[in-house]
Amino acid sequence: MSTDVSAKLFADACAVIPGGVNSPVRAFTAVGGTPRFITSATGYWLTDADDNRYIDLVSSWGPMILGHAHPAVVEAVQKAAAGGLSFGAPTPAESELAGEIIARVGPVEKLRMVNSGTESTMSAIRLARGYTGRTKIIKFAGCYHGHSDALLADAGSGVATLGLPSSPGVTGAATADTIVLPYNDIAAVEEAFTQFGNEIAAIITEAAAGNMGTVAPQPGFNAELRRITAEHGALLIVDEVMTGFRVSRSGWYGLDPVDADLFTFGKVMSGGLPAAAFGGRTEVMDKLAPLGPVYQAGTLSGNPVAMAAGLATLRAADDAVYATLDANAGRLTELIAGALSAEGVKHRISRAGNMFSVFFTDAPVTDFASAKASETWRYPAFFHALLDAGVYPPCSAFETWFVSAALDDEAFDRIAAALPAAARAAAEAKQT
Ligand SMILES: *Cc1c(COP(=O)(O)O)cnc(C)c1O
Repeated sequence: MSTDVSAKLFADACAVIPGGVNSPVRAFTAVGGTPRFITSATGYWLTDADDNRYIDLVSSWGPMILGHAHPAVVEAVQKAAAGGLSFGAPTPAESELAGEIIARVGPVEKLRMVNSGTESTMSAIRLARGYTGRTKIIKFAGCYHGHSDALLADAGSGVATLGLPSSPGVTGAATADTIVLPYNDIAAVEEAFTQFGNEIAAIITEAAAGNMGTVAPQPGFNAELRRITAEHGALLIVDEVMTGFRVSRSGWYGLDPVDADLFTFGKVMSGGLPAAAFGGRTEVMDKLAPLGPVYQAGTLSGNPVAMAAGLATLRAADDAVYATLDANAGRLTELIAGALSAEGVKHRISRAGNMFSVFFTDAPVTDFASAKASETWRYPAFFHALLDAGVYPPCSAFETWFVSAALDDEAFDRIAAALPAAARAAAEAKQT
């Protein structure tokens, strides 16, 4: 497989864009090698600048549940674009998409559109602080909620210690009110509330964690967070940016119906264009400007083309699509587990709905510490063997694999053919 053109494009990109990419994971830092420059995609196929084709198991990190260039979505986008790209005034499609989401997620009564998942969680945190008049928030180690300052925090040394900035440029002041706790650890949450009780505005959690690799909440974890926050007058923010409308037509809420105060959405809800949203109870949402004092705004928010892509995606994603996504995840994980077992590579395939990750370990993975304890050094070899065979998995052991409903028997045959060599490469990998 030649990658000369991608290599040249990457060198050119590095001259004008830091690291050659506009989101760090795309640089292949965790696996090495040349990031492939994608020139087109249709169905489950990605085509790169060297005309190599890959079966896509990343789906733009989640959004493309229908596969790429789905005819209904492309048609809706073309029609919307022909009618003008942005007006800076309300449009009917915004309420249509809001209505579509509200109809699926019971506790969401009102919704505000934004432009990225980062904005949705940042705004939900501001709203929770404005609503409660409290300052502290709890997040879980390994959960990613976008790159706003308050949420770029690492755990301190003790259990209920205050967060430390996880990036230069984020001030200690920006994370001083962020408490970072281990995921799936209710005792740690109880302890934090004992210590800081009436100062805590909200807990924010991924509906099911997908950004430390896939790590599902243990049964009852989200419900316990609901109980504890309600007892202490804090809000529960469930971040469904990744899970929303991917794992069911109602997102994780459809599988594990916990009535959070606020939900955040992104990825699938805008069908591959930049839009996201946050929503919840009317009483909380009406604290937002222009009705209430909590300021939040966006020049391109509710963009008509993004709304059209989201509406077309959600409307095309019927029960059959979700059944197919689940079946495809099942089929793929069985193939991967079979190939790794055949080579004697210890592994756990960690699933949450149709999302999953491959951890090279025989111990349970329940939080960030156990995810990091796996043999991630086997992953680059596994990844590159698949990529060389025309299968495009996530380029980090800590990312989720995302199937689309477009995968067919031909795709699975090709994946099945590629896996034995990849499993062998994982088995032969040396710890560096
Ligand atoms: C992707 C993601 C975000 C951030 O969304 P962006 O659109 O990349 O800003 C936030 N939360 C979760 C759970 C995500 O998976």
